[in-house]
Amino acid sequence: MREIVHIQAGQCGNQIGSMFWETISAEHGIDPSGKFVGSDRVQQLERANVYYNEAEGGRYVPRAVMMDLEPGVVETIRSSKFGQLYRPDNFVHGQSGAGNNWAKGHYTEGAELIDQVLDVVRREAENCDCLQGFQISHSLGGGTGSGMGTLLVSKIREEFPDRMMCTYSVMPSPKVSDTVVEPYNATLAIHQLVENADAVFAIDNEALYDICNKTLKLANPSYSDLNKLVAGVMSGITCSLRFPGQLNADLRKLAVNLIPFPRLHFFMIGYAPLTSVGSQEYRASNVHELTQQMFDSGNMMAACDPRHGRYLTAAAYFRGKVSTKEVEDQMLNMQNKNSSYFVDWIPNNIKTSVCDIAPEGQKCSAAFIGNSTAIQEIFKRVGDQFTLMFRRKAFLHWYAGEGMDEMEFSEAESNMNDLVSEYQQYQEASARDDVGDDEEGYDM
Ligand code: GDP
Repeated sequence: MREIVHIQAGQCGNQIGSMFWETISAEHGIDPSGKFVGSDRVQQLERANVYYNEAEGGRYVPRAVMMDLEPGVVETIRSSKFGQLYRPDNFVHGQSGAGNNWAKGHYTEGAELIDQVLDVVRREAENCDCLQGFQISHSLGGGTGSGMGTLLVSKIREEFPDRMMCTYSVMPSPKVSDTVVEPYNATLAIHQLVENADAVFAIDNEALYDICNKTLKLANPSYSDLNKLVAGVMSGITCSLRFPGQLNADLRKLAVNLIPFPRLHFFMIGYAPLTSVGSQEYRASNVHELTQQMFDSGNMMAACDPRHGRYLTAAAYFRGKVSTKEVEDQMLNMQNKNSSYFVDWIPNNIKTSVCDIAPEGQKCSAAFIGNSTAIQEIFKRVGDQFTLMFRRKAFLHWYAGEGMDEMEFSEAESNMNDLVSEYQQYQEASARDDVGDDEEGYDM
């Protein structure tokens, strides 16, 4: 058994997290009371223990910890249809809230509550047979998920240095939220995630909004609409961890295949098919279509155009009754036709796998993880907004009031700028370049 402990932090983290659990519970045939009601015990349950504990009487319980600095969202989850699924003492919340202030989450309010959360995390980790790692869902634009979420990441890293740490991190967009300090919170969080996370799946509200608006034709998308997309893609990229017989079947293998340089661990993720409700019947869903769509910038959950950069590595996960040979042929064809969008100094840099269990209500689907240098577009977007305010020291007093120093802002800003330059450097590198001795290297 290779278990994962899931933690959801703050409003956004809890909302996307609970949608994730509802989605995968349906796939594993687990009903809201934790009972197995599926049709194929072997397929659906053989690896369910990666995400679920099996309790007395064969009840399946998510290995999930729900934390927040205010009671509202976790109370809503607890009283929802799926509320009984979770272990009641895995809900940890405060009363005060973080008021969209990263410093409150990271240094003051959050620091007071963190030991309670760590107790629950430790209990879950100790009950595991062979823990592979952690996954955290949170937003980067607010105070709790962003500030306290990254505090938790660093505490877990300290206590479990050899376990994998993955995050599903929601990037802020003014199209979705109107809180002005989000670029500050996001930059401070990214500074932490560069150092303390192994893999970050970037979920960009700007892209989610555009998909809902342009592709799904929803005029005023709600969080619930955005979160359905998130749950779909999270289910797609975790299916190789949750079902038997898959490639990249654990988090470490996935990281080894996708991360050529330790700091460059921020992934674009995508999903296909995406179709508006009205046009579903008019579209074919076959391997060719899925492959085309999967690489389309309109299907990426990051508002970055992969054609503005190059893929260092990528992974594709097909689901449903599709032919493995056809998948391989289509993927090869895609790579050959678009070879200039893949770095030429990492051969065979796309990994493909097929899982025969399709998502609920679909015949087949595909999820995509790309380590593309184009992701720098998100960091530039957030960085530009950060710099505009920081040059005038706007809003800094809110952070100083919680004891933060301006230095930390400057460090976060320059760490993110460095990250952008690193992506740019590898984007421009070619197999034919000289690799000088002065390149930063590792002692072997
Ligand atoms: P926290 O509770 O202090 O962590 O704050 P939030 O999670 O509300 O953080 C605010 C950011 O999260 C903003 O960028 C919001 O647009 C975004 N956000 C809040 N709730 C959701 C949600 O349910 N889904 C998505 N996709 N984004 C959300």
